[in-house]
Amino acid sequence: MDRILRGIMRYRVLDRASMVKQFEQVKDNPVPKAIFYTCMDSRMIPTRFTETSVGDMFVVRNAGNLVPHSEHFVDEMTSCEPAGLELSCIINDIKHVIVCGHSDCKAMNLLYKLKSPEESNIEQRRISPLKSWLCTHGQTSLDKFLAANQDFSKPMLFTAETPQRKFVAYIDPENKFCIEDKLSQVNTLQQLQNIASYGMLKKRLERHDLHIHALWFDIYTGDIYYFSRRAKQFIIIDESSYDIILAEVRRYYS
Ligand SMILES: [Zn+2]
Repeated sequence: MDRILRGIMRYRVLDRASMVKQFEQVKDNPVPKAIFYTCMDSRMIPTRFTETSVGDMFVVRNAGNLVPHSEHFVDEMTSCEPAGLELSCIINDIKHVIVCGHSDCKAMNLLYKLKSPEESNIEQRRISPLKSWLCTHGQTSLDKFLAANQDFSKPMLFTAETPQRKFVAYIDPENKFCIEDKLSQVNTLQQLQNIASYGMLKKRLERHDLHIHALWFDIYTGDIYYFSRRAKQFIIIDESSYDIILAEVRRYYS
C-alpha cells in the first residue's frame, strides 16, 4: 500500500493538473475509439504500450483476457465482460473490439495444467474461483488447442464477426514460443467468436460496422503482434509492418 500511496502523492504533483485538463476537454464529448480486453497481469499496462490516454478507450481486464460466450448469460447471471460490450458497442458507438493476450500468462499456464482431470475436477473447481473461471470460460480454447495435438503446422479455423466470416490461423509458425504461449494465442483468437456470440451485436457485425481484432503482447521482448487475417498469423507491429497492417485494417474494416 505504501507504493500506491507514494504513487498518488507523485501523481498529485506531476500529473493531476494535466489530467484534469484532459478530463475537461473530453467531458461533454468523450469519443473512445475501442474497447480493449486484456489480462489483469500486473505487467500488462495497455494504455502505456498503446500510448493511449484520457477518453481513448474502454479497458476490461480479467484473468486470461477471456470474454464469456453468450451461452453463459442465462437468468440474468452475467459477468462484467458482456456488460462492457453493451456499454461500449450499444450505448456508445465503438467500432473496434480488441482482445489482447500475452506471453507467460499465469492464467494460460494454469489453463494448460487444467487439461489434467486431477487439476480440473469438481472438487478443485469448488475451492478455486480461478480454476472455475478458467474451466468454464477457457474450455473452448483448451479444447481447440488440444485438438491440434501439438501439431501447429496445420492451420486452425476460427470464427469471427459472423458464422460465415471464418479465418485461418497458423499458430507460432516459427515455433518461437513455448506450448503455454501457443495456448495463449489460440485463446486470444477464440475470444473473437465469443464476442460475436452476443445477439445485441449481431446487426452491427453483419453490417461490417463493428470489428473484432486480436493483439498479442510478448512480455519477453516487448513486441506487440497483430493477428493478420491476410497473413493468417500474428505479425509484429513495427516500422516494416505498420503500413501493411494499417492497409489491412482499412481494407477489411473501414
Ligand atoms: Zn495473463
